[in-house]
Amino acid sequence: MNTRMEEIMHAIEHNKLTADDPFRFHCTQCGKSCINREDILLTPLDLFRIANELKLSLKELTSSEAPVIEYFYMNPGCGDNTRTQTLREWFDSFGIPLDDDFFIVWATFQKNFVMLIRETERLLGESAMRQIWSPIFGILYLCYDLEKEFLPQFRENAEKLLRGLQMIAGTKTT
Ligand code: SF4
Repeated sequence: MNTRMEEIMHAIEHNKLTADDPFRFHCTQCGKSCINREDILLTPLDLFRIANELKLSLKELTSSEAPVIEYFYMNPGCGDNTRTQTLREWFDSFGIPLDDDFFIVWATFQKNFVMLIRETERLLGESAMRQIWSPIFGILYLCYDLEKEFLPQFRENAEKLLRGLQMIAGTKTT
């Protein structure tokens, strides 16, 4: 297990937070360890919010990126630790509800998506998969009207994607 993985496992086992537990972190906006990272996965809702905040279209932005929700603390190794806040306060500061419906819908989608994509990869092979990653990204991350509510659009796109993958897997197995 690599060091990063060990840190994550340690955080999951020992640093669980409830909504009102305090933790120390303050972002100093330095950008030293949170930019140019390939291991930080933005959700489509992140992109939707960033595009709205920056007043950019999703295309412009990307050419420039009932499970139980549990939180755990992992020191990001940056910032200056001058502020202590609870999870609830941290989420409030970004206007994100603690029981955000999107997290649940996103986690459910990921579970189904990962299973289907593994099956599709197994059936189609690497070179065919290279052709379908781009449309998958387009449906999941770019097909949103920024003037409309995000969640219904996400549900529709996610369903479309899962149905499409199911059809590929079904066609290939019959
Ligand atoms: S303190 Fe950390 S999270 Fe904040 S900008 Fe710097 S690297 Fe990014």
